Amino acid sequence: TKPPPVMRYNLNNVTITHNPVENRENVLILTPMARFYQEYWDNLMKLSYPHELITLGFILPKNKEGNAATSELQKQIAKTQTSGPEKARFNSIIILRQEFDPPISSQDEVERHKMQNQRARRAAMAKARNSLLFTTLGPAVSWVLWLDADIIETPPTLIQDLALHDKPLIAPNCFQRYYNTETKKMDERPYDFNNWQDSPTAQQLGEKMGPDEILLEGYQDMPTYRSLMAFMYKPDEDKHTEVPLDGVGGTALLVKADVHRDGAMFPAFPFYHLIETEGFAKMAKRLGWQATGLPNYKVYHYNE
Ligand code: GDP
Ligand code: MN
Repeated sequence: TKPPPVMRYNLNNVTITHNPVENRENVLILTPMARFYQEYWDNLMKLSYPHELITLGFILPKNKEGNAATSELQKQIAKTQTSGPEKARFNSIIILRQEFDPPISSQDEVERHKMQNQRARRAAMAKARNSLLFTTLGPAVSWVLWLDADIIETPPTLIQDLALHDKPLIAPNCFQRYYNTETKKMDERPYDFNNWQDSPTAQQLGEKMGPDEILLEGYQDMPTYRSLMAFMYKPDEDKHTEVPLDGVGGTALLVKADVHRDGAMFPAFPFYHLIETEGFAKMAKRLGWQATGLPNYKVYHYNE
């Protein structure tokens, strides 16, 4: 009998550069998914980064809604990977089912954004992201793109555009299209408030807190006076304008795989009074990796 093969990877040969297409760099797209939106899949399919260099990873809760989303996702995957054009096929696809129960059954937008529901929800999300990350991050991955399942519109060049900046963590600005009843026209508004620059007020709030308390963004009961990237959008300015960030969201976020390999993950516990994606930005920073935001580069969140 033959001895088991030894797999050798020299991490120095896995490049992470601003020109990932030319350098044939592998991208891992990770999506926690509670619901399946066709618009998410259609947008994903339109990404112009070579699909043969992309691995998709999903994690879905094991509840009724998660089961429904899984079967819809599997339908689309089967179509793409078997009967679709070869160019559209992804390198590989991994689907995980979440073993623990989501903390709140009701997932409507109002309910899940209530402050008292945030902590448990964000902690569960952190664990889901970590499970997904630690089971899928292989030695050949250069970049990890975190992309929420309700991101339904991005430029097709999203990965190339973000990678071009050559930053350890980089986030576009997440907006939402809606029908403006005053102007009677379609309009758009900022959505993701987790991309922010820290403030002295938030720092002082944190200092007065007990070790188990967390700071949350976007709640009137807890004014932080942080500078939110969501409100930094300037229509006439360069799409590639960069701003430094102290907190990030997970709606769309490109991360150099080395940041995760160094051990930066999504704390499900208060880390400097921050959890999940915001805690991740802080942990990355403590490891020497600074987050960047692109206020004028927009992606769009589904409107429930
Ligand atoms: P919000 O946009 O900040 O309100 O957060 P979402 O509820 O949209 O959640 C962020 C992402 O995680 C989305 O892609 C959801 O589909 C997904 N998601 C939400 N809850 C769960 C959950 O309990 N388990 C898993 N695996 N994914 C979830
Ligand atoms: Mn969402």
